[in-house]
Amino acid sequence: MKIDFGAIYGRQPKASILDTEQRRIAQADPAFREALRRRVRNPERFAAFMAGKPFYTAPERPCARCGGHRKRARDHTCYDCILERNRSDWEMMQAGIRPPAKRSLDGHRDLLARQKRERAGESISRTWATADPPGTLTVTRHPTGRTECHFPDAHHEPDLAKLDGRHVHRLCVVLPELREALEWAGWW
Ligand SMILES: [Zn+2]
Repeated sequence: MKIDFGAIYGRQPKASILDTEQRRIAQADPAFREALRRRVRNPERFAAFMAGKPFYTAPERPCARCGGHRKRARDHTCYDCILERNRSDWEMMQAGIRPPAKRSLDGHRDLLARQKRERAGESISRTWATADPPGTLTVTRHPTGRTECHFPDAHHEPDLAKLDGRHVHRLCVVLPELREALEWAGWW
């Protein structure tokens, strides 16, 4: 008998992206786990995913870019390339990279003008669909350089630029869509 997992969980057992929601269902439902296991080609990847490990090793498939053997359990992309990419972002943030609007705040009069525009509600927003957790991420750029964020877990951050760079970096690692959003917002 074919089980309609979509009707039960609103999710099909798909191998393309293995996220925490898939793991939660797979841990609770052996039939879903088995269906998902059959779809994930690499048993190492499935084992790592079920154990909550971020990567597995695939010596037979070295990365074309860096030659690394570690793959991310989530989407079987190269784990070492992702670490490298995050590291360079982190270095940029450490070097004091800030939103461009903030850097161009020159002079008191300019600031007052920007504050006035902000009070008038002038801003631009964009929303991204997020995979893990499933939901949306909304980023709003304000005239004063404020980067406001509404996260998929309902958390609200009035100004991301006020947070410690290390914390923003961690957020980008757990929520890859934020990286893209901050790129849109002109952070790097
Ligand atoms: Zn690589």
